[in-house]
This record gives sequence, C-alpha cells and structure tokens, in this order.
Amino acid sequence: MPVTRNTRNVPYYLLGSGAFAQLEELVEARRSLVDGPVFFYVDHYFQHKELSGKLPARPSDTVVFVDTSREPTVEYVDALTEDAKATLKGLTPCCIVGIGGGATLDTAKAVANLLTNPGRAEDYQGWDLVKHPAVYKIGVPTLAGTGAECSRTCVLTNQRRGLKLGMNSDHTVYDQLVLDPSLARSAPREQFFFTGMDTYMHCFESIRGTYRNVIVDRLSESALALCREIFLGSEDMMSDANLERMLVASYLGGMAAGNVGAVHPVSAGLSIVLHLPHGKANCYALAALQDVYPAEYEEFMKMLSHNNIALPPGICANLPDEQYQALYNGVIVHEKPLANALGPEFRNIFSKERLTAMFKSM
Ligand code: ZN
Repeated sequence: MPVTRNTRNVPYYLLGSGAFAQLEELVEARRSLVDGPVFFYVDHYFQHKELSGKLPARPSDTVVFVDTSREPTVEYVDALTEDAKATLKGLTPCCIVGIGGGATLDTAKAVANLLTNPGRAEDYQGWDLVKHPAVYKIGVPTLAGTGAECSRTCVLTNQRRGLKLGMNSDHTVYDQLVLDPSLARSAPREQFFFTGMDTYMHCFESIRGTYRNVIVDRLSESALALCREIFLGSEDMMSDANLERMLVASYLGGMAAGNVGAVHPVSAGLSIVLHLPHGKANCYALAALQDVYPAEYEEFMKMLSHNNIALPPGICANLPDEQYQALYNGVIVHEKPLANALGPEFRNIFSKERLTAMFKSM
C-alpha cells in the first residue's frame, strides 16, 4: 500500500450520556488560558428549547443561533464572521463551541478558520488553503451521521460557482468533542434517519470506490455494521442504545470520510439546485442509483421500510430545461468522487441524457 496522507484526528473527546454537563469545565479551562469571550454557535432548532438554557455562557459571551433551514453558504459564513469581528473589537475568542447537526458544526468550523485567516469563505474552498491555526473549538453534535464532528472539512454551498466544497484542512478539525447521545433524543425521526444515513452512504461509497486505504476500510466496515444494527435491528432506531451507536458510527464514519462515490455528487446537484438538505438528498440519490450500487440500493430500501420513512416521488419532475442543465452541472463538477466510483470514463457513463432521465425519475 502507498504511504497515506499525514492524517490528523480529533485529539480529545468525551463520550457518554450526560457528557454535555462537562462542557462548562472544558470552557472554563479555555477561559483560564486565553483572555477572550466564548462564541457559541447553536442550531436554531434549540432556540427555545431546554438545551439553550444550559449553555455555560457568561454575559460577555455571544450565543448565535445558526439558521439551518438551508445548507450553510459562503455568504452566510462571511456574515457571521463579520458579526463576530464587530463584537470582538480586536479580541480573539478563547473558544468557539458548535452545538447542533452537521450544518451547525460546519458553520462553527468555518467561522473559526476565518477569524484567524484573512479574506472570505470562498477563498478557502479547496484543499489545504487555510494557513493559520483556527480559533480553538469544541464540537457538540446533537444529531449524528454527517461526520462533521471529526472530519477535516466544513461543507459550504457557493451558488455563484455552482458548487458545494469545504475548507479541507487540518486546521478545520475540532480540538475537542462532547459526544452525548442523549442530546439526539428529541430529534424529529425523519431527520434522525436522513442524517444517520449519511454515515451509511459515506462508508459504502468509500468501500465501493477505487481510492482505498486500509484504515479507512476498517473504519467504514465498523460504521456500516453499526448502521445495520440501528436501521435494520429489532430495537427502535432511536432507542437509547441506538442513539449511542449512531454517535459512534458517525464518529468512525467521519474519520473514514473523504473518498465518496456517485451518491454524493448526485446529492450535491440536488442540494445546489433544489436546496434539498444533504441527508435527504443522499437518500433520493441512492434511490436512483440502483444500477451503480445494486446491493446497497436493496439494503437501503429495506432500511426505509423498516423505519417507515417515505421518499415521496416527483421532486424533480417537470422542471424547466435550465434546471436540468444546472442539476447535470452540479453533479459532473465533482470529478474526483465520480472517477472513484465510475472510473476515468465517468463523463460517458453519466451522460447528460442519463442524468436528466434519472432526475426526472426521482
Ligand atoms: Zn455526506
């Protein structure tokens, strides 16, 4: 096997039901080291919920409720960064705390990078463009599956350039995680399912691809085994034991993420053009990729019916031609994952006609 890329993982994590209570201690440790406030970025879903009353925030700190009704955009991250700079007046936060699902965790990562690096979010969309270490950051996932808590990227939509691309950098990795499965207990079932399935997609796409790595393969296999226990087992997918399994699966899958295949490009097209949330878009993508991934398609269909989750058809029916063109463009731009799944001839395999027919069938 060729030598792997020099790989960084999250250095510290706490795992277990009730771990959230230790956030205060972690934040206090940062206050004693750096003379700046704490910025909390919290999914707006929690704005009037119990959790927002439990934040270890002082009056000098800032709590930002992140709008997650859409995938994070470069403009949104730039605006949040400007707001933070205006509040900070030259200070640096002692710590940024991201609390939420993948969109919130990624937003907090992006702002942490931009507070120590000049320019705008889109300047850093790509690989290893972030020069200076980010603000210290703690991630608290409240919904598991995206792997955002441990990945080295933060996926941002850039409408102007028609792409979804993260700031792939070692500086994007969280410094500390608080993995508390009880935080997902109140999540809507559909959202839990769609988000959890992101782990399933990342891991099988990686194993089915041609870009391989022995550690990534093992992590992916373990995460897939957990997904099968959660989504095809005898317990409810949101039982306490499954909430914990999902956090572990997401964490392992997040460490394995990077080499996705054909599902993610199709999903990205759906998110760019129709603003479909990532997890749900993945599910529509796999449901239309039976010929590329026959075994996983079949297993996924069982997972849907086992958990009573529906994918109502017709999401791309009767769109104007420009939108089918935009969908095609939004898929085919993702050259690396498409080549990983389909080989160098991916443009011939995923022709405009074939993709258009596929979208019309969704
Ligand atoms: Zn994903």
